[in-house]
Amino acid sequence: MRTLRLILGDQLDIKHSWFQKNDENIIYVIAEMRQETDYVKHHIQKVVAFFLSMRIFYTTIQAQGHQAVYFQITDPDNPQDLEKIIAVCIEKHKIEKFEYQLPDEYRLDQQLKTICSNLRINSEAFDSEHFYTTRHELSQFFEGKKLLLMENFYRNMRKKHHILMNGSAPLGNQWNFDAANRKKYKGEVPVPSEKNFHSNASEIVAQINQAGIITFGNLDENNFSWPTSRKQSLEVLDYFCINLLKYFGDYEDAIHTEEKFLFHSRLSFAMNSKMLSPKEVIETVISFYHENEAKITLSQVEGFVRQILGWREYIRGIYWKEMPNYAQMNVLKNYNKLPDFFWTGKTKMNCMSHAINQSLDEAYAHHIQRLMVIGNFTLLTQIHPDEVDAWYLGVYIDAIEWVEMPNTRGMSQYADGGIIATKPYVSSGSYINKMSNNCTKCHYNVKEKFGEKACPFNALYWNFLDEKKEYFKGNQRMGMMLNLLNKMNPEELYKIKVKAHSIIEDMDSL
Ligand code: FAD
Ligand code: SF4
Repeated sequence: MRTLRLILGDQLDIKHSWFQKNDENIIYVIAEMRQETDYVKHHIQKVVAFFLSMRIFYTTIQAQGHQAVYFQITDPDNPQDLEKIIAVCIEKHKIEKFEYQLPDEYRLDQQLKTICSNLRINSEAFDSEHFYTTRHELSQFFEGKKLLLMENFYRNMRKKHHILMNGSAPLGNQWNFDAANRKKYKGEVPVPSEKNFHSNASEIVAQINQAGIITFGNLDENNFSWPTSRKQSLEVLDYFCINLLKYFGDYEDAIHTEEKFLFHSRLSFAMNSKMLSPKEVIETVISFYHENEAKITLSQVEGFVRQILGWREYIRGIYWKEMPNYAQMNVLKNYNKLPDFFWTGKTKMNCMSHAINQSLDEAYAHHIQRLMVIGNFTLLTQIHPDEVDAWYLGVYIDAIEWVEMPNTRGMSQYADGGIIATKPYVSSGSYINKMSNNCTKCHYNVKEKFGEKACPFNALYWNFLDEKKEYFKGNQRMGMMLNLLNKMNPEELYKIKVKAHSIIEDMDSL
């Protein structure tokens, strides 16, 4: 039977069972589409990374003897819309059956269901074979439970997949080495330079411009650094094991003005596009650890495994449990607009300047920059979660809605009312000062609350607690902070609030 198989831009998995055998009656279709480039404004590096990787994947499957068609963004016959592309292929290649892998995004899942229901031929959806869990496994695991704690889910995953286990006990008799993962980086060990690829992206950039796609962010066309093939992705994984794993856990939560990547793996794009599977990443890291136990401690490895086996799978499970309502949640009723400096990087706040300029230059910021610097600022200034989501979804190389939204709207902005985080991730300047060297060279003074040079995070933090205190009054984890707020001298609080409101009204002057 002549069959059309769709491969979406984030389904570049050559290990998928689809590709295990050749069949001349099967035609694969891969398409660069305006429907995907335009639903949010993306960083130029993100568009380039997807297009380059898709094109390499197309040549790879062709080289393996599979039949495939590819629509480039500037092809005159590219309909730019998924439904039309499928219709054109069905007609042209006399297709009798349509097949697709389950997409990770709710939007595409709905679209494909609608497309299939309108087709006059049969269709079938296949598992992407990428994740450890099925879409609804987390919902089943937490059925009847009020608190959806990641730690409980993670321990179950460790047991179920027998990862870092010693019989029924966790390796090292400890599930979690979180407490050992909070070192400030002071340059005590050198950070190896990042693994870059220096690919030439000028042709694709010219096509993106010719097509009129509006992007933002910066790019060195001759030195495109992200992995865009499975081979390069495997090189990043090896580089991580050999050079970075040793200190990954220790400095997981650190921030440093001179070190953009610290000991982070930069594997998220390779995994989210499915060039690498989480299983092979975890297995490679663990076997490297066992071969090098004299040099690498378990806490580094457990810290890394927790991110992928724990957080990544948990976040995906929450997305499928809560969508589509999740996308509308705004329990704290935040309505402010994102300031312009999110697009220009022009601010005197050293921590924000570094995190935002790095995001604009690299399409990357690590977890703590996303959570405790940028996300902390947007929550304290009470920006609408739709605006925050759109920025995060556009700016980061690894941002695909299933993973971006629960992290941003949920974990970072608490817009989901605590489905993910048991308390909001907010802090005054003191946390940033504790975890980074940003404050030493800042225009603002991290110790001050009111003056012209006072760190904006300080007034914003107390103002946020005061404005949201009714919402959080029953939250035990907020008790200590709210007690401190209650004990604050009313005059001092009044001055803080005046200061915070002047900041919020004119964020672009910060
Ligand atoms: P490392 O620090 O080396 O971690 C290894 C891997 O663990 C990552 O590649 C990633 O696959 C996984 N991981 C770690 N934390 C998380 C997490 N919270 N959720 C899911 N996976 C995780 N990650 C994305 O992949 N896409 C996003 O759009 C995204 N948006 C985020 C938004 C906010 C506000 C926050 C706080 C986090 C977000 N994350 C997102 C999670 C995390 O920041 C990135 O996965 C990580 O920074 C990617 O860099 P890395 O590969 O060097 O990660
Ligand atoms: Fe950021 Fe405040 Fe520190 Fe400046 S003083 S770097 S604004 S936390």
